[in-house]
Amino acid sequence: MKANQSMYRFSSEQTIAYELHDNCYLNITNRCTLRCRFCPKFNKQWDVQSYDLRLKREPDIIDVLTAIGDPRQYQQIVFCGLGEPTLRLPDLLEIATEIKNLGGKVRVNTDGLINWVRQKDTTPLFSGVIDSLSISLNAQNETVYDQHCRPPAQGAYPALLEFIARARDQVENVVVTAIDGLEGVDIDACREITEHLGVTFRKRQLDKVG
Ligand code: SF4
Repeated sequence: MKANQSMYRFSSEQTIAYELHDNCYLNITNRCTLRCRFCPKFNKQWDVQSYDLRLKREPDIIDVLTAIGDPRQYQQIVFCGLGEPTLRLPDLLEIATEIKNLGGKVRVNTDGLINWVRQKDTTPLFSGVIDSLSISLNAQNETVYDQHCRPPAQGAYPALLEFIARARDQVENVVVTAIDGLEGVDIDACREITEHLGVTFRKRQLDKVG
């Protein structure tokens, strides 16, 4: 275990940073744009790989940087869940910039809906600050997407596809994912859409953080 003392200190109060697969995962918000049916938190399950990810309050920038410690001790620092990290975009970018200044690598796991939420293209802000993006496509069409992910309004799915295309031009490594085994989800069709958009596809397993 490479976690430093400060990580333990904050972990005992609430889990802000946790280590998995030689990466440091960050839990900066429990808020989400979506209400995915398969999400552990909507099934009253807040533990991921034995880490309790329920936040009593959102950590501030200093809390997060303290919880990480030296980012060079990890392969990547990953903004993850249980929540959508881009809902705190200004804080995320400030934290990511500091991680980069300290010599770390940054990945963001996202629903790809921040442009839809903010009604503007935010992807240029990622350039030079985010090394990798992992974007949840989750379905091969809007009907299946809405059934599983339950967005608050119509139009999320086409906005997600547009986000992927824009992110591809700003971030070096963009990976699009879908979960294998969800009813009606056609993994091959998801792969085809992804390849058409010119980025890499990765099939995920349900409840596996990565
Ligand atoms: S986007 Fe992720 S954290 Fe949010 S509801 Fe869906 S699965 Fe859960």
